[in-house]
Amino acid sequence: MDALHEFDVIRPKTIAEMLAARKAHPASRLIGGGTDILVNIRRGIEKPPVLIETTAVAELHGIAANEREIVVGASAKLAALAQNAAVLKHYPAIAAAADSIAGPTHRNMGTVGGNLCLDTRCIYYNQSEWWRGANAHCLKTALGEMCHVAPKSKGVCFATYSGDLAPAFLLYGGEIDLAGPDGTRTLALADFYTGYAKQDGSTGDGRTYLAIRPGEIVLRVRAKNVPGLVSAYDKIRIRKSIEYPVAGVAVALARKGDTLADLRVAFTGTNPRPVLLDGTSALCGKPLSDAALAALDDLCRDQIMSMKTTFTPGTYRRRVATVMAKRLVKRLWGAA
Ligand SMILES: Cc1cc2nc3c(=O)[nH]c(=O)nc-3n(C[C@H](O)[C@H](O)[C@H](O)COP(=O)(O)OP(=O)(O)OC[C@H]3O[C@@H](n4cnc5c(N)ncnc54)[C@H](O)[C@@H]3O)c2cc1C
Ligand code: SF4
Repeated sequence: MDALHEFDVIRPKTIAEMLAARKAHPASRLIGGGTDILVNIRRGIEKPPVLIETTAVAELHGIAANEREIVVGASAKLAALAQNAAVLKHYPAIAAAADSIAGPTHRNMGTVGGNLCLDTRCIYYNQSEWWRGANAHCLKTALGEMCHVAPKSKGVCFATYSGDLAPAFLLYGGEIDLAGPDGTRTLALADFYTGYAKQDGSTGDGRTYLAIRPGEIVLRVRAKNVPGLVSAYDKIRIRKSIEYPVAGVAVALARKGDTLADLRVAFTGTNPRPVLLDGTSALCGKPLSDAALAALDDLCRDQIMSMKTTFTPGTYRRRVATVMAKRLVKRLWGAA
């Protein structure tokens, strides 16, 4: 790790103060728990002159959940989300995803906003300045001229989105509230992520992966429940006690007798954005048969586009994500 450069830290106590600080310091960066951005700064990936802390804004710490709706402030800590009784009861996939992030110390520091805005990752990017320089850099830091993962990518970066919370919120039709110089707005969480995914024709990539505008901050994430929906989250990682997902899968389904009434599947760690699987409604309205699981397999293989951005090959991540999805579906079907 390199030594930290000099920077100022501002600690606003209200949203208005935070927006004013952003306006006064256009090159500033927000910092929640700092468990991702400080690592990037230590690696010389970014050098913001000013960091604006989000954690002193009390109104952004709220976690409210019941059987109909969940609303979580951007500064809420991951550990608080994972341990919240109402979240555990009504949104088990969200609680499990939060509980699976990094290790206990990261979860005590890390925030929901920081997790949702997590930078995309790649073995050629998450390295020291010295290492990246020795490899002539790459497109994601703008100093290089080619992508080492896909040299023929013609300017596209495939760095992978690896946040665990996003797929869990996507299951419940998550929305995100933003505030900025032009006021507040709400975006579907699926539209907040712009990195490439085959099924929706998005045009972003591993560099332009968020629809956040200059000066904007994430205020909160919200989502709605559906009666009868059961959910779970699972991930595979290299070190089980503290690690990003090699692949992470969130599943929610509803069963009416012997009929699959609703099925939602979302992935992380596979594409430059979290992926909500398209086409699962075609599997509903009938029992969960071997043919339905084979069709789910096809959907996953078609829409997961993992590249060699981690130490595990892309083909392995696609295979393992598909297996985890089918396992979770079978488990939830049996328990529903
Ligand atoms: C060893 C290790 C293991 C890890 N394992 C995992 C893992 O398993 N799963 C996982 O998902 N992550 C993992 N992480 C990454 C990180 O710890 C978590 O994603 C954490 O939730 C990030 O939250 P934070 O508050 O610390 O983010 P920060 O580092 O503070 O910020 C991250 C980004 O979000 C932006 N940001 C923060 N708050 C806001 C806001 N309110 N509005 C707009 N932008 C904002 C920051 O500017 C920055 O770009 C790991 C990190 C380490 C070091
Ligand atoms: S996918 Fe390519 S451009 Fe993107 S960070 Fe990795 S090497 Fe760089």
